[in-house]
Amino acid sequence: MTDRVIYATIPGVEVRLLSSVTTQLVAEACRRHRTTAAASAALGRTLTGAGLLAMTQKAHERTTVQFVCDGPIGGIVAVANARGDVRGYVRNPWADAEPLNGKLNVAGVVGGGTMHVGRELRRENGTNAEPYSGIVEITSGEIGLDFAYYLTVSEQIPSGVSLGVFVHNDTNRVLAAGGFIVQLMPGARRDVEEELTARISSAPHATEMILQGASPLEMLQTALGSSSIEVLDERDLRFSCNCSRERFLDKLAALPRADVDEMIADGTGELLTCHVCTEQYTVTIDDLRALVTDELVN
Ligand code: ZN
Repeated sequence: MTDRVIYATIPGVEVRLLSSVTTQLVAEACRRHRTTAAASAALGRTLTGAGLLAMTQKAHERTTVQFVCDGPIGGIVAVANARGDVRGYVRNPWADAEPLNGKLNVAGVVGGGTMHVGRELRRENGTNAEPYSGIVEITSGEIGLDFAYYLTVSEQIPSGVSLGVFVHNDTNRVLAAGGFIVQLMPGARRDVEEELTARISSAPHATEMILQGASPLEMLQTALGSSSIEVLDERDLRFSCNCSRERFLDKLAALPRADVDEMIADGTGELLTCHVCTEQYTVTIDDLRALVTDELVN
């Protein structure tokens, strides 16, 4: 099943619903970065949360989520745009922590620190508007609760968040990933808030539903016990990095001339690796010579 994200509501109720299945993109991110099971869960939940937040934005806008943390994982970064491109990495993919009550110990690899969310916004005419950014303390380290805390405190929208990644015990492969966010918008009634909160807390875990083949909409229907959910927008999601050979060549071209000359003198060319997606690019001696020649022409 293709990864998908939906934006929905319940007619007559002041509620915003976001839900996604992200199994493929999380599996690809974890395969590329060779993460341990616990690091896969931390990275996958962050990628999923960023993808959900980006769904509330317009095309070409971008959401960046960063955990600056003191646990063995050292840091997590996820970037998502409204077109459904999601990318990210962790500082230490080998980070691990003893399982807790038979479950992956995500809080154990994340530890304490701060969570940063940046939202790039655009005006109708395409120019950049003042970006929005928020920072909160990492209160749980389980990622889902941290997103809920961020949305409630920093964006001031009371939110319930469920994010999950299911990793196979033996193969370390990601078999299910996804999650949902339930947000109470201004004007939501107190009794609605209490009922939704109670339903979310007794809902099955997101990955449990995804393993059974649930779509983003079916997840919401089950979690909220409601059949009247109306989907307002939906998009495909994918792991997609914005790196390219040209971008790396541009970076090399910006280096001091002496550095490039030194690489040419080495005589071996360069193998460059994107730290966000692990893609490798070969830069030959001829490429390097062309950079220097271009510079002279300019
Ligand atoms: Zn890349």
